[in-house]
Amino acid sequence: MSNRIINFNAGPAVLPLDVLQAAQEELLNFNNTGMSILEISHRSKPYEEVNHEAEANMKELLGLGDEYRVLFLQGGASTQFAMIPLNFLTPGQTADYILTGVWSEKALKEAKLIGQTHIAGSTAEGKYRRTPQQEEIQLSDKPAYVHITSNNTIYGTQWKELPSFGPVPLFADMSSDILCRPFDASKFSLIYAGAQKNLGPSGVTAVIIRKELTENSPKTIPTMLRYDTHASTDSLYNTPPTFAVYLLNLVLRWIKAQGGLTAMEARNVTKAKLIYDAIDSSNGFYRGHADKDSRSLMNVTFRLPNEELEKIFAAESVAAGMSGLKGHRSVGGLRASIYNAMPVAGCQTLSEFMKEFCRKHG
Ligand SMILES: *Cc1c(COP(=O)(O)O)cnc(C)c1O
Repeated sequence: MSNRIINFNAGPAVLPLDVLQAAQEELLNFNNTGMSILEISHRSKPYEEVNHEAEANMKELLGLGDEYRVLFLQGGASTQFAMIPLNFLTPGQTADYILTGVWSEKALKEAKLIGQTHIAGSTAEGKYRRTPQQEEIQLSDKPAYVHITSNNTIYGTQWKELPSFGPVPLFADMSSDILCRPFDASKFSLIYAGAQKNLGPSGVTAVIIRKELTENSPKTIPTMLRYDTHASTDSLYNTPPTFAVYLLNLVLRWIKAQGGLTAMEARNVTKAKLIYDAIDSSNGFYRGHADKDSRSLMNVTFRLPNEELEKIFAAESVAAGMSGLKGHRSVGGLRASIYNAMPVAGCQTLSEFMKEFCRKHG
């Protein structure tokens, strides 16, 4: 595997090597069908088994029972930005959004097209360096739901403690940190995640949703945009992204084999610490974008003393066998995306590279 490099891309992103090898091994002949998983009907028994196993594995990892469904949809997390208000923001109601970055702004933008919204909290002031404190959040009167983004991929911030608002339905975009640590999923009525960061390849979006929310979507919205359509057909209303669901299921199996979410968290904490320590021990050479108490386990964002050094850093990191460290254009600087599939050794290499670079240029 000497030609594989250390992949810090933000998404699509690194996948576990075991998963890629398993997919490679059975690419030509899936489960003795004599056909590739790419070539079989989504209505065939072998595919139905994949689909069912993926739902069961996701629920098992999240500790959820029969009161939840897991749907595998298309259109990315961005389509969920619109599907959520279409299904749950009915006339006369208000939906509350907590803004912690560009993705939550985009979610709000779609909801505004559909109904009345309220910004219940925002850390836009100060360039989204942190997530809000619970006491900064002001809900509207009886909101239809509260929407949060659990991890802010671009800014490198993450809710340390996920909030909870009693009986108000809580919805979360967890695209970039789902399954990175244990959490009480039963506090959420709906969780969605584009797979291409922490779950698999692009092309499928996982939606974990309380069963009662899939029972009667408004009759006025298009069939494909209704949760009841997809729940009542086990995500097989139309042709699903079969290969993406298959790979996602291999990733779920891999997480289970590693020891589940507790093991993921332990590994992710070790990995993130390696890089944050390189920032904190640099005497201000590296400046983290996120406030310390909002630092993400998944996306580490930092700046160097000037853009010239940032360019040299990016170029030399590529020469040292690393990829994807250039930050998002809206924040600038560098970003290391270190999702579940990033091995500890990859973060070790980056941490040492950062310390050496600081010695040379600091
Ligand atoms: C990447 C990302 C999205 C966008 O996902 P698409 O699947 O490309 O629509 C939305 N939210 C968050 C938090 C993301 O990281």
